[in-house]
Amino acid sequence: METFDSRRLSRRSLLRAMTALAAGAALPPLGMRPARAATPDLPRDFGKGRTVAVIGAGMAGLTAGWKLARSGFKVTIYEADSRYGGRSLTVRPDDDNGQHGAYKRWWFNKYNPQRLFPDMYVSRYQEQEGPAREQQICRFADDTWIPEKGKPPVELFLNAGPGRIPSDHAALLQLCGEIGVELEPYIFQSNYNLLRSKKFRDGQPIAYNQITYSTRGELAAKWAKIEDRTCDPKKSAIINLLKQFGDLDDNCEFPSSARLGYRELPGGWDTPGSIKDKVPLDEVLGSGFVGGGDPEFTPGSFLFNADNIVWQNSLMQPVGGMDRIWQRLLLQPIPEAAIRLHPNDPREREMRGRHVRYVGDLVLLKYPVARIDNVPGTKKIRVVTNGHVEVADFCISTMAPNLLKGILADGDGQFPKYFKDALGEVEQTPAIKVGWQARTRFWEKQNHIYGGISWTDDDIGQIWYPSEDFNAPTGVLTGAYNRGRTATAFGNLTQKERIAEALEGGQHLHPSTGPNEPGFKSEIYTDRGLTIAWQYMPFQVGGWPGPTASSQPAIYRTIIKPQGQLYLAGDAYSYLPGWQEGAVTSVYKAIEALPPA
Ligand SMILES: Cc1cc2nc3c(=O)[nH]c(=O)nc-3n(C[C@H](O)[C@H](O)[C@H](O)COP(=O)(O)OP(=O)(O)OC[C@H]3O[C@@H](n4cnc5c(N)ncnc54)[C@H](O)[C@@H]3O)c2cc1C
Repeated sequence: METFDSRRLSRRSLLRAMTALAAGAALPPLGMRPARAATPDLPRDFGKGRTVAVIGAGMAGLTAGWKLARSGFKVTIYEADSRYGGRSLTVRPDDDNGQHGAYKRWWFNKYNPQRLFPDMYVSRYQEQEGPAREQQICRFADDTWIPEKGKPPVELFLNAGPGRIPSDHAALLQLCGEIGVELEPYIFQSNYNLLRSKKFRDGQPIAYNQITYSTRGELAAKWAKIEDRTCDPKKSAIINLLKQFGDLDDNCEFPSSARLGYRELPGGWDTPGSIKDKVPLDEVLGSGFVGGGDPEFTPGSFLFNADNIVWQNSLMQPVGGMDRIWQRLLLQPIPEAAIRLHPNDPREREMRGRHVRYVGDLVLLKYPVARIDNVPGTKKIRVVTNGHVEVADFCISTMAPNLLKGILADGDGQFPKYFKDALGEVEQTPAIKVGWQARTRFWEKQNHIYGGISWTDDDIGQIWYPSEDFNAPTGVLTGAYNRGRTATAFGNLTQKERIAEALEGGQHLHPSTGPNEPGFKSEIYTDRGLTIAWQYMPFQVGGWPGPTASSQPAIYRTIIKPQGQLYLAGDAYSYLPGWQEGAVTSVYKAIEALPPA
């Protein structure tokens, strides 16, 4: 995600530092790396003879299941949906993509040759509310791929949920290392990415480097004039800094700079190339790229997004899609004793004839938990699903707080009203995405864009270009990603309307510039588009919770407290809502809080 508040963060960091100083703690010297999150590796027999019911098979639930199973607990993970992963949904080509299942076979041979837990491959999903309830089927296909020739296809998938991992999401990155998830750079910003606003040059897109380095040059020249009329960097350190910052000339003016990018590329013999014109500061100020207006306006400031702590270089992505993380979790071996089967358990068939047990064996799909209550007079908790009741020593719920509220029992010895009310009050943020398969990688050829994001004030908000497979014959674009009011409005369109709106937004960023460059609408497969509105997805209430810890602090303090045998985890119970790091670190907290036998 995508929520951030740099001011709050720095104030909090400051408070933390002051507390540490007051307590006499030694702060690490400046420049030292921040401490890594510790993984709760409990002793192997810590949980022996004890049982845990985990609710939800998303990042939080599966991480919990793995860690607990390795520490001697018997674990069952109840997942309401027919798929794993929760919000970490990566959508992949369906058998129905014209290649008769060849792509799916190739995928399983590469990532899961034993075909364990085949539901890990997701190619369809369906919103359960709202006006776009038809099943969405991923029809991406590398049409140039000839399976018989043995060369791999271009891997085509849409990360419909999470897509990137900041470098200081230490617990998640460590987890990726532990379970063997291969990572590669995720490019947040390429200097040729485009910015587009209705307020700027009649909506004509402009490259990030042209406007950014114009702004820096113009500001530096203005400041240099105030500082020193002689413009001598040897006499003035600040003049020296400003000249470097803005790429000013010997008179401290900013007539132009190669930093602005090329209009015509330089090359051999008689092709010197040419540099783009600078954008005057007044135009920048009125452009709509600076931000600072309506905080709902995504994403705030087109010019300074990459400075945001969660979007600073380097970011990472799992090779092959974000779902690789929970897919690798499913395939982690665990002790046989960790599995607790119930009569007529559907998992028995899956396990028959196989000697190794995996985290995936802990999971019961399509088991929505309908009620949780404390067993009177005992330190036990009861979890009721469709047709099955489990009494366990502990329950770790990773469901959205607002949904959990509805299934907690009340009355004597049950869950207090103030706690349930607090769960119900957690604010949630709607979020939408759109995915397109492109006919060609036109953004690379035409715009020199290799990865990164183009930003627009259209309702699509942004377009992500793939950070992988450069120069491949095709690729998948994230054709819209938005939150808040815009996501609510977009989510309330029919599928046909969403597609039309996303096409229009794409065309504004990539307009036709002549017969050889017909623009976005002609460059992508319009019949292979996918859209998702997370506020309407089953067993979800939005894209992610608001910044509860800072915007609803009393509620946050209430909901993170264990209630008897019930422990809560998931990004909602963390300082990182909307980030998998929040899911993982809150699970680690819940595990650490479990008492010894
Ligand atoms: C559009 C979008 C973009 C994002 N971008 C990023 C990103 O770039 N990087 C990043 O790190 N994070 C990102 N996130 C956030 C990330 O997806 C979440 O933080 C993370 O996946 C949350 O994991 P979780 O296990 O806490 O919750 P979930 O994944 O929501 O899991 C909860 C599970 O509980 C299940 N459940 C609900 N009710 C019941 C019930 N009654 N019984 C049984 N099961 C139930 C649900 O079906 C679900 O599987 C993004 C999210 C979205 C939506």
